[in-house]
Amino acid sequence: MEVAESKSKKAGGRLCSTCNQRKAALKRPKTLEQICRECFYEVFEEEIHQVIVGNQLFKAGERIAIGASGGKDSTVLAFVLSELNRRHNYGLDLFLLSIDEGISGYRDDSLQTVKRNEIQYGLPLKIVSYKDLYGWTMDEIVKVIGLKNNCTFCGVFRRQALDRGASLLKVDKIATGHNADDIAETVLLNILRGDIARLSRCTLITTGEDGPIPRCKPFKYTYEKEIRLDYFSTECIYSPNAYRGFAREFIKDLERLRPRAILDIIKSGENFRISTSTKMPEQGTCERCGYISSQKWCKACVLLEGLNRGLPKMGIVRSRGQNNERTKDMKQNKGTKNIESKQCGTLDF
Ligand code: SF4
Repeated sequence: MEVAESKSKKAGGRLCSTCNQRKAALKRPKTLEQICRECFYEVFEEEIHQVIVGNQLFKAGERIAIGASGGKDSTVLAFVLSELNRRHNYGLDLFLLSIDEGISGYRDDSLQTVKRNEIQYGLPLKIVSYKDLYGWTMDEIVKVIGLKNNCTFCGVFRRQALDRGASLLKVDKIATGHNADDIAETVLLNILRGDIARLSRCTLITTGEDGPIPRCKPFKYTYEKEIRLDYFSTECIYSPNAYRGFAREFIKDLERLRPRAILDIIKSGENFRISTSTKMPEQGTCERCGYISSQKWCKACVLLEGLNRGLPKMGIVRSRGQNNERTKDMKQNKGTKNIESKQCGTLDF
């Protein structure tokens, strides 16, 4: 792991505030403590351990899939979880689970990083692809849909693909690398979009306990700046990312002015009380594929139907004037608004 070297200069010749022996190498954004590299690793891993234990994220004997994109967050998560599992005898069976969206020049490269992690950390790797699951790669989808709504398809498909991969691995839970910055951004975006259902769950450390496979976020309180690593990094070639990009920049500006802002936004999100009279979607199953859905068809089936019928905007643009049941279902299927993914710096909870 590579710590924030740029901060070391600012730390100057000061001694580490933890060990008082070695030179400080960085200033922690969360606490502003000046700390040496060795103490940072120790404190970083101990904090994650405390989050795991304090929130009872795992139980001994569980099989856990680590959502692995080849990006920094999931790579550090794989490393830290395998270390802590060994050090503290969590008794977990860990696996790496990757999704291949079929984006040439992006995902094929980052999957190489995941394959290296498989060897480095000795964790079995499962890769599930959009092509196998849905019959389409993102490259093919972009050819028909263009670059406007591609992330809607990608986000909906990825969410299901992770669950399907996890069920192939027969795991009890999926651990994802969402960090504090991601969660603060999502709180903000859900407020901006007026998405009460997502706002009410986006700060939870474990979600989907009533769904097929729960997901948890051991990095919920970890600042992105502290997750530094020599990893393969590139932007998705199809990333538009505008709306979240603004939210991300805004969060970074706030962090510069007041480093605690990220944790405070998460705290605000946690403290929202949603009125009991607010209508929430009711969970059922998709009549077509059996996946969880609050509608007759799940979002992925609606989008796939459009693709396969040569009407790719069917699940995106809401039809007018048609009153058949499926159109009504699609009208109700509000989730077809932009759902973005974590791997490309955007995410869906
Ligand atoms: Fe998929 Fe993300 Fe690329 Fe959009 S930016 S196409 S969600 S990987």
